[in-house]
Amino acid sequence: MASEDTAVVFRNGTVVDATGAGPREDWVVVARGGRIDWMGPAADAPEITAPHREIDARGGTVLPGFVDAHVHMTMGGDGMNPAAFLHQPPHYGYYTAIPRLRATLDAGVTSVRDLAGLDLAVVRAVEEGIVAGPRITTAYRALGPTGGHGDFRTCCGFDFGTVLGPGGAVSINTDGAAEALRGTREVMRKGAGVVKVMAGGGVWSPQDTPWHDGLNIEEMTVVVREAAAHGIPVAAHAQSARSIRNALAAGVTSIEHGYEIDAEGIEAMLRDGAFLVPTLATATTPPDPAKSAGYAVEKKLRLQEHLGENISAAVAAGVRVALGTDSGIFPHGRNLHELALLVEHGMTPMGAILAGTREAAELLGVADRVGTLQVGKRADIVVCAGDPLEDITLPGDPANITVVVKDGVVHKDTTAPGRPPATA
Ligand SMILES: [Zn+2]
Repeated sequence: MASEDTAVVFRNGTVVDATGAGPREDWVVVARGGRIDWMGPAADAPEITAPHREIDARGGTVLPGFVDAHVHMTMGGDGMNPAAFLHQPPHYGYYTAIPRLRATLDAGVTSVRDLAGLDLAVVRAVEEGIVAGPRITTAYRALGPTGGHGDFRTCCGFDFGTVLGPGGAVSINTDGAAEALRGTREVMRKGAGVVKVMAGGGVWSPQDTPWHDGLNIEEMTVVVREAAAHGIPVAAHAQSARSIRNALAAGVTSIEHGYEIDAEGIEAMLRDGAFLVPTLATATTPPDPAKSAGYAVEKKLRLQEHLGENISAAVAAGVRVALGTDSGIFPHGRNLHELALLVEHGMTPMGAILAGTREAAELLGVADRVGTLQVGKRADIVVCAGDPLEDITLPGDPANITVVVKDGVVHKDTTAPGRPPATA
């Protein structure tokens, strides 16, 4: 197994560092000791005498590893039918997460935020290299009201939330300010790097709809205050205009989905500097009636009616956007398809790349370590074949992500045929 001590040198590529600077042709990037050690024009590149690995990025673009701010690694992305969950053994979800983590890394995503499902066991397994995957910030479990999004008990009492979260649940039913405080402290005790609240109902929850309220403003305010006291951001699942406004009134850090955001919501986001994570990959995928409960199909079709114009209006107004896919509802391993969708909704290709790097890292609170290519940052580096600024659909096909390096370790390299990746 190669270690981060072996230097990795990227040559002949165009570098997009995601600081906001333009592309630089024929730059060299040197990763050493798990960090970016040097970058600059090829003519100035230092000589590397110690044994190291050369990556020929000719014809490609060298970018920071991407950040997906909204995934669910314990969910499959292939429809969700509660009946199929009845016979799933407890804790099975830990094992199904393993190939999904690998697929996400192979897609060029080196950091993710799991917004309910994963727990510290997985975070640690990835950190220790037991399984390959992106670095993880986890919400552990979401806080939502009894009978709301997150309460996955069907009318007969079967709780398929126990399948969506392999640790035994995907959310904590939370009613009233005292439970909101306890729930916030409980998820933080379990290592949450973000607190997830359900500000409204959802597509996949059996008893509510996106147009129902979730936690009320008072409950969410308690969560925001307690999380902020620990330096932890709050992500709000909110699809209806009203739930978006409620979440912003409570002071959340990000609106997840935001499909029905209206002028008032946009104004509040601009005022507070809140992030929108529009999860377009999931939103624009038609529901599959063969694999999904009927109630979910109906809700999703209604949500899709106006989301294009609403998200485009938020982008046009200058709302801060971070890339997130809701992979787990959307299939894993095609995360960077989201870039093309962001451009379809009004972002420039560079804007979309920043949303998936610097901006998402900012939202996760990891911008001091990852999200841009800068000397001193962790060596999370990917190579995309071709020029994504010219064709933003390129990164969406994992076959075009030819190299993935995380923490200075090569996880994928298809530029050197026959040479295996440095780690399993
Ligand atoms: Zn989600």
